Amino acid sequence: MANLIGVYGASGCGRGVMPLLRAQHAQSAELVFVDDNPPAEALNGHACLTYAEFLKHSAGSKKVCLAIANSAIREKLALRCTSDGIGFVQARAHNVVEMDEVEIAEGAILSPFVTFTSNIKIGKHFHANLYSYVEHDCIIGNFVTFAPSVHCNGNVVIEDHAYIGTGAMIKQGLPGKPLVIGRGAVVGMGAVVTKSVPAGAVVVGNPARPKV
Ligand code: UDP
Repeated sequence: MANLIGVYGASGCGRGVMPLLRAQHAQSAELVFVDDNPPAEALNGHACLTYAEFLKHSAGSKKVCLAIANSAIREKLALRCTSDGIGFVQARAHNVVEMDEVEIAEGAILSPFVTFTSNIKIGKHFHANLYSYVEHDCIIGNFVTFAPSVHCNGNVVIEDHAYIGTGAMIKQGLPGKPLVIGRGAVVGMGAVVTKSVPAGAVVVGNPARPKV
């Protein structure tokens, strides 16, 4: 087949992403896992290739979806793929809801039941896991990761590489005065974030406070 799509990362995240890409592209592309340390020759009906094998494959068009939760690894692999001329594909469940003026940069993974309302901007290689939502007027940076069921309310800014844990809720900001989750911050599972979180901080609990 002329088109090859690689799910980069053949572990938990990647195995959840493959069925989304299969539903989107099975008719038009061969789908494989790509992993620097392949766990098997094949997984769930798809070959597991090393990156070198993926590069050597004779397909005319090659793209990947970076399906690894660790955002620093995603960034490293994005740079590697870009320098080798490999493009990125978005993985999107059929029931993702997107309302008006939602801009999503390349490489996103949008799991089942993810919802975006209106006037939202999202950076590269965003992961929105099962049942997460993003409300109006949010700006989300590059390599941001949402675990399942993240509730991100309106007028929130989330900077690059932030990680938001399962079931966390982020309070709505104000127009012109958003609630900001700083670069690389980690919001723990189930946290209720009521005010801005500094870059690099780890917050947990309700209301969310720095982890001690
Ligand atoms: N991996 C890789 N290249 C890297 C780092 C990781 O191919 O530079 C692969 C690693 O071999 C593993 C997967 O990515 O198969 C990450 O799996 P893990 O269970 O740690 O994370 P998750 O699937 O939850 O994101």
